[in-house]
Amino acid sequence: MPHLKQVLAGSIVVGLLSSVALVTAGQEELPPVVTPGLPGLPDRPGTAPSDAVVLLGPGTGWKAWRRSADTEPSEWIVDADGIGQVKPGKGNIRTRDEFGDCHIHVEWQVPEGRECNGQSGCNSGVYVMGRYEVQILGAFDNDTYPGGTAGAWYNQHVPLANPCRPPGEWNTYDIIFRAPRFDANGKQLEPPMGTVIFNGVVVQNNAIIKGPTGSSMLKGPASKGPLFLQDHSDPIRFANIWVRPL
Ligand code: MG
Repeated sequence: MPHLKQVLAGSIVVGLLSSVALVTAGQEELPPVVTPGLPGLPDRPGTAPSDAVVLLGPGTGWKAWRRSADTEPSEWIVDADGIGQVKPGKGNIRTRDEFGDCHIHVEWQVPEGRECNGQSGCNSGVYVMGRYEVQILGAFDNDTYPGGTAGAWYNQHVPLANPCRPPGEWNTYDIIFRAPRFDANGKQLEPPMGTVIFNGVVVQNNAIIKGPTGSSMLKGPASKGPLFLQDHSDPIRFANIWVRPL
């Protein structure tokens, strides 16, 4: 049995070591304070954290976006509360800003009463860097091919679950994206990777993205790029879209 003094001395040494370990090189500063937003609910969109780049919210219109075909402003519908909607036939839209590593938050809804039939009727998508589509689809009680359902990295990674809400209710996507890494000669060292949380359920767990997904708007190597929303001829609604560069 160790003597009490030895136990006490040991405790003091462990305590000192723990104190030293509390401050490690590169970890001297506390993280910045961020006021969190409100979570989105089925019957009303949430709000953005205080330091986010707000891309669609109350009073913003679509001014952070433009038509992807040219540099003209987006012609999609939006009201003063920040509820936007695809105006079918007006084309895809893209952000004016570009993003690399980031957290993207998007809320979307299939309008109440809208018929969804496979890929038809309730289709849109979020194209990260204009290249990698997280599929938006009214997937509640609507079967389609697995790589094309809601929450898929389109035709590359089938989502791990289908937590889609019915038409008339809001869904949330949180996409945690890591951009590809390149060497000085432009050779890709690490692929893009993305986690997707759909209505609070992890549906993509750090999936390795093999390259631009089908019908991507942009191609070619890049470390950052704009966010695109797809006009698939369906009146999908959007709200509370923001990005936090990481
Ligand atoms: Mg789509």
